[in-house]
Amino acid sequence: MSSIIQLLPDHVANQIAAGEVVQRPASVVKELLENAVDAKATDIKLIIKDAGKSLIQVIDNGSGMNVTDARMCFERHATSKIRQAEDLFSLHTKGFRGEALASIAAIAHMEMKTKLELEELGTHIIIEGSKFVSQDVAVLPKGTSFAVKNLFFNIPARRNFLKSDTVEYRHVIDEFQRVALAHPKIHFTFYHNGSDMYNLPPSSLRQRVVNFFGGKTNEKLVPVIEDTEMMNIQGFVSKPEFAKKSRGEQFFFVNDRFIKSPYLHHAVMAAYDGILKDGAQPSYYLYLTVPPNTIDINIHPTKTEIKFDNESAMYAILRASIKHSLGQFNVAPVLDFER
Ligand code: ADP
Ligand code: MG
Repeated sequence: MSSIIQLLPDHVANQIAAGEVVQRPASVVKELLENAVDAKATDIKLIIKDAGKSLIQVIDNGSGMNVTDARMCFERHATSKIRQAEDLFSLHTKGFRGEALASIAAIAHMEMKTKLELEELGTHIIIEGSKFVSQDVAVLPKGTSFAVKNLFFNIPARRNFLKSDTVEYRHVIDEFQRVALAHPKIHFTFYHNGSDMYNLPPSSLRQRVVNFFGGKTNEKLVPVIEDTEMMNIQGFVSKPEFAKKSRGEQFFFVNDRFIKSPYLHHAVMAAYDGILKDGAQPSYYLYLTVPPNTIDINIHPTKTEIKFDNESAMYAILRASIKHSLGQFNVAPVLDFER
């Protein structure tokens, strides 16, 4: 019998990868915002229409790309962020998989404009379903703009699976919030259907939290600060009397990346032991900084889970420092700090 195994063509492989990376408009928002952050933008605009179903655009003033990179960035496993496997353990960027743009371009219509600071002209590329439609030289500002339209145009099952605009918009807000909270020094603006939803100037961490969750948040916050060799902690937890009935504003960031961790959540809850009503949920915004070689982020394509080398020690430090802060807030004036 003749052999039957073949390598899949790139556009098919890309579409399969997209199944993991791009679940909904919010996934595209996350990937494009993180790329803008990695490009060291100080100003990032997010523009969406119909909860991202019609348009998702991210405009940044970051590094931009030269013409070769502008073409290359749509290839699968193409990245400027790591060079070798060891680099996975010294990551200072959000991205490293080199998969997002190839995936998005496989299942949407995409338009990119990009220019380096020191070049006169930039590059304008249109790519649809992994096919390059056009490439031009263009007069552009420094930085990069990606516009994504007709998401899932070639995967009707996925398109039909999208929820109402209200639900999809909520997911977009969640992703926007996570990136904007992780980077208070970056100016973010967000427009939905032509309306200005958020305009967040560069600010302290406290101010960014207040901008998102309202002026009353300020009086609820207790600062948490800790600096050990294993882990640095900055951030805020809410005073117990402001706890909520349901889980809402609970954020962990590890090395400026939003993550989910039931284990660390448990450490926070343990710090509140005995001072919360049954079932009440505190708010927290906790920024942990750990040596990059003590964590593994490459567990899941969306990178919201991390494996820690020193999980139980982190648990103990986190719990103790929150407990300490909660014990202090009554007696000492609330300390503020700039992040
Ligand atoms: P990754 O972020 O994992 O490297 P992506 O597919 O998201 O993979 O992006 C591929 C490459 O394209 C990046 O490594 C980067 O070099 C370049 N790139 C993507 N977005 C931008 C941007 N907004 N500004 C400058 N370069 C970008
Ligand atoms: Mg990326």
